[in-house]
Amino acid sequence: LYARIEKWERAEHSAVTTCPFCGVGCQIEVGARNNHIVRVRGQRGPNEGQLCVKGRFGLEFAESTDRLKTPMIRRDGVLVSATWDEALDLIAERLSSYKGDEFGMVASAKCTNEEVYLAQKFARVVMGTNNIDNCARLCHASTISGLSIAIGSGAMTNSIDDLRNAGCILVIGSNTTEQHPVIGLRIKEAKRRGARIIVANPRRIELCGIADVWIRNRPGTDLPLILGMCKSIKDAGLADMGFIRDRTEGFEDFARSLDELQMDVICGLTGVDESLIKEAALLYANGNPSSIVYSMGITQHACGTDNVLALANLAMMTGNIGVPGGGINPLRGQNNVQGACDMGALPNMLPGYQNVLSAEARAMIEGIWGMRIPERPGLTLVEMFDAARSGRIRAMYIIGENPVLSEPDAGHVIEALGDLDFLVVQDIFLTETAQLADVVLPAACSLEKDGTFTSTERRVQMVRRILAPPGDARPDWWILQEIALRMGYRKGFSFSSTAEIMNEISRVARIYGGISHERLESGGIQWPCTDPEHPGTSYLHRDGFANGRGRFSVLRYRPPEELPDSEYPMVLLTGRILYHYHTGTMTRRVHDLEYLRGEEVVEINPEDGANLGLNEGDLVEVASRRGSVRARVRLTDRSPKGTVFMTFHFSETPTNVLTSRCLDPVAKIPELKFCAVRIRKI
Ligand code: SF4
Repeated sequence: LYARIEKWERAEHSAVTTCPFCGVGCQIEVGARNNHIVRVRGQRGPNEGQLCVKGRFGLEFAESTDRLKTPMIRRDGVLVSATWDEALDLIAERLSSYKGDEFGMVASAKCTNEEVYLAQKFARVVMGTNNIDNCARLCHASTISGLSIAIGSGAMTNSIDDLRNAGCILVIGSNTTEQHPVIGLRIKEAKRRGARIIVANPRRIELCGIADVWIRNRPGTDLPLILGMCKSIKDAGLADMGFIRDRTEGFEDFARSLDELQMDVICGLTGVDESLIKEAALLYANGNPSSIVYSMGITQHACGTDNVLALANLAMMTGNIGVPGGGINPLRGQNNVQGACDMGALPNMLPGYQNVLSAEARAMIEGIWGMRIPERPGLTLVEMFDAARSGRIRAMYIIGENPVLSEPDAGHVIEALGDLDFLVVQDIFLTETAQLADVVLPAACSLEKDGTFTSTERRVQMVRRILAPPGDARPDWWILQEIALRMGYRKGFSFSSTAEIMNEISRVARIYGGISHERLESGGIQWPCTDPEHPGTSYLHRDGFANGRGRFSVLRYRPPEELPDSEYPMVLLTGRILYHYHTGTMTRRVHDLEYLRGEEVVEINPEDGANLGLNEGDLVEVASRRGSVRARVRLTDRSPKGTVFMTFHFSETPTNVLTSRCLDPVAKIPELKFCAVRIRKI
C-alpha cells in the first residue's frame, strides 16, 4: 500500500478513460510517469467511482514484457520479426488474390468502435464479403435475435443506474457479482433500498445470499421455468391487460399455450417446487416496476433465442418494458461487445443494425462510402471455421480474439485454422491463435490509443491514450487503413484520426447520429442519440417499440442437445470468475490477479466427489466426446449434484476442447453452457 501511495504522488500526467475489461464501462483515471502506470482510481460515470479488482489492479498487462513489439512473418515454419512494410505488403499481396466469400474476418469486442467500424468496412468493400463477425456470436447473438423479434432492439433496455428504481429484480443466468461486479453492487444497493431479489441459477452464486427467492432449476431448463412464471401470473390475474392491448400483439396465442402447460410437468423438468415458481412469479408481477438482468446462462444454449423470447414475454405481459426501473437487461461480457455489434461487425447487419438484405439500407451506406456492399449475408463465427475446414474460406484475418481457447470444440478450430491458405492475426500478445498465423501484427492496447467503447447500457464513452505503445505496435485502425491503402482503396480509408471515423459513423448509423468525440469529452452518451441536440436515451421503448408492437411468441421446451448418459454422466457448465477476463491473455499477465487465482479448478458437488472417491485438490481428467483436459478438484456445493463447473481463462486447461458446437438455429450461438462429460481421477 505504501508503495502505491508513493507512486501515486509521482504521476506525471493522467487521463480519464474506460476500463478495458467487462461491459460495465467503468470510468478510470490512470496516472503515468515515464510511460509506466503509477495510479488507477475510479471516476464518476456509470460506476460512480467504484471499481472491481480487475479495473483497479489489472492494467499491468499493458506493460508486460510479453507484448508484441514488431510484426512477425512465418518463414520456413517459424514466426520471425519483420518490418511494417514487409508485413503490410505481404498481406496486401496475399489478400488481393482472394475474392469475396473466400475471406473471413473476426473483429474484436476489445477494439474501439472506430476500429470495428473500419474492420467491417474493410471486409465489405475491400474484400467484398459479409463474412464478418465478432465474439458476440458466442455470448449475446441470441439476445439480438430474440429481443429484435420481440421488441425490435437487441440492446439493454434500461440503465445500470436505473436498477435503483426497481421494486423487484429477477437475476437469471447471470453471476453478476463475479462477471459484472459493479452492477452486482447496484443490485445489492437496490436490495438495501427495499427491492425484492429473485435469483434463478443452478449454481449457488453470491447473490443467492441476498435473494428473497433462489430458484435452483436444473441446467438447461430456464425456458420451462420462465413459462411456469408466466402461467402463474396469468392464472393469478396479474397480467397487465392494458399494456398488452395497447402495445403488443400475439398474446391470445401465447395465453392459450400457457393454458395447455401442466405445472407438474414444469416442476418435473426444472426440479423446482410449484410453490417456489409461483412465489417468484408473484414477486415479479407485483414489483412495480420489475427488472430482468440476465447474461450467458440464458443465451449460450441451443434454445438461447427461445430463452430470450420467454423473458420478453414475461416482461411484456406485466407491462415492465418502457418504464424506469423495469426492462430486460442483458449484460454484455467484453468491454465493447455492444459497440462491435452497433458497428456492424455482424454477417447480416450493417452499422446501426441495418439489415444487409435491405436494398434501401445498402444504398444509403453505399452513397456515403462510394463503394458497393455485397448483398448476401455472410457466415457467422462458428460457420466460418466450418467453411475453413471445407475449403470455402481460404484466408482469415482475426483481430484481438483468441478462438483457439474461446470457441467451442477447440480442436475443430485448430484444424480449421490449419486448413487455411493464409491467416493474419492482430493482437497485443502472441496468443494461442496468433501462434498459428502466417503474419502477426502488433496492436496498441486501449491505454495507448484514442477512440470510444460502448458499454452494456448503450453508453458511448471515450477511450484515451495514456501510454505510448511498446516498440512498433500500432492502433488497429491505423493497421487496417494501411492495408486497405496498399490494396488500392484510398477512397474510404483516408482517415487522419478516430474522431474523423466517428463522424462517418454518425452519418451511417442513425442511433449514433448525434455522437461525436467533441460531445463525449464532457461524458458518455447512451444511444439512440440521433442528432447533435439529442441528450441520449436512458431507457428504451418509452413511446413504443421499434417494430411497432411488441410480439409475444409461443414457445416449446427443447432439451439441451447433448444430454448426459452412462458414458458421460455429468453436465459441464462453463463460465467466468471475478479475477480473470476472457481467455486470460490480459489478466493472466497481472501479478496480483494471478496470485488470487492462477489455475483452473474443477468445481464438483461434495456428494459427487464422494461417489467418485475424490478429495479436495485431486488431479482429474474431465473428458467429453470431443477431448479431455486436466485440472484439480474443488469440492463445493456451489455446483449442484451432477454438474461440473469450469472456466475458459486458463490455456493450460483449455476447457473449450470439451464444449459442443451445437447451435441455436436462429442465432447460431453455440451451446457453451451444457455438454456431457465424465470425470476420472488421475
Ligand atoms: Fe472494469 Fe467491469 Fe470491473 Fe468495472 S466492473 S472495473 S468495467 S472489469
